[in-house]
Amino acid sequence: MFHVKIKKKMIFVIATVSLITGCTLKNLQSQAKHQVDFFAMDTYMTITAYGTDGKSPLNQAKNEIKRVEREFSVTEENSTTAKLNAAGEDGIEVPEEYMELTKKALDVTEKTGGAFDLTIYPVLKLWGFTTGEYLVPNKVELRDALALTGFQKIQKDEENCRIALKGNAQVDFGGIAKGYAADRALEVLKKAGVSSAIVNLGGNVATLGTKPDGSLWSVAIRDPQTTDQYMGVLRVKDRAVVTSGGYERYFIDENGEKWCHIIDPSDGYPVKNDLLSVTIVNRESTTADALSTAMYVLGSEKAMEYWEKNGEFEMILLTTDGGVIATEGLKNLFSLMENYEGREIKFIQSEGAE
Ligand code: AMP
Ligand code: MG
Repeated sequence: MFHVKIKKKMIFVIATVSLITGCTLKNLQSQAKHQVDFFAMDTYMTITAYGTDGKSPLNQAKNEIKRVEREFSVTEENSTTAKLNAAGEDGIEVPEEYMELTKKALDVTEKTGGAFDLTIYPVLKLWGFTTGEYLVPNKVELRDALALTGFQKIQKDEENCRIALKGNAQVDFGGIAKGYAADRALEVLKKAGVSSAIVNLGGNVATLGTKPDGSLWSVAIRDPQTTDQYMGVLRVKDRAVVTSGGYERYFIDENGEKWCHIIDPSDGYPVKNDLLSVTIVNRESTTADALSTAMYVLGSEKAMEYWEKNGEFEMILLTTDGGVIATEGLKNLFSLMENYEGREIKFIQSEGAE
């Protein structure tokens, strides 16, 4: 009798141990962190995912980003963009996703009065932003390049999935493609069963779910004036955080004047206004990317006006006078880093809000 009792006890102990081991293993697996780093779209990218069995879903997401790059890049010889830019007025048949992204870009163009403009490419080329051979063009050169731009030159035939560019126009998806790639990467991860991930495509950040322990992701916002430092932190889940700013790419001419890579389509000059950077927080990264570029072009006053009218997103504006403006939805989610705590965040409310 005695040893039977022991056996029962042992069985119970073994069962308990294996139950605990099973739980712990599962737990450990759901916490397991995998990361891939790579270079694409002219920038360093990182994909981090939790709870995957290995790196396979992350590599699938990386391949998807590279596929998006091959499709939309203006410099890749065989990209649809290169073919479209070389096609002349008859245009070409484009993949459905190409038509969809063009439509999304044009939607932001329309809503922002042309601040976001895919056809700005000839002007970017003139300033040397495509080759690194920078120059400040004269007024005639600028006028001629500007004459090639204008979103009305993009003609879509949705039924036949064709796009044509009129008047020697050329397009460049540089202001929206990274955002789209981030959305695609999260989609691939989701399909592979991942529910907790963060992708950072050179400052274009997109998050899937929360961290594995249920807490929010922290996304640091760079200080545009001291770019090796961060000035604030955003806490988010299931959101993209996309920043545009002149500090990201610029050149300084022989007179010491700074010219950045974001062009104001209204005059063909690199943007010079009261903004240092714009951060957009939005569910979808594609729109966030187009909006961050467009709001940077608009300047703080018009950006705030735009948000008040169309504000289904959150926004942070850093201004040249040291100001930090954030939309009300970020009140509990955005805070300044310790060494910036002397500054004040001005929270703006949309009309009609309490
Ligand atoms: P982002 O870093 O997302 O603001 O995008 C900047 C990139 O978008 C530039 O390097 C150009 O390729 C392109 N770009 C510049 N100005 C504009 C503009 N006004 N509208 C659309 N794309 C632009
Ligand atoms: Mg952008």
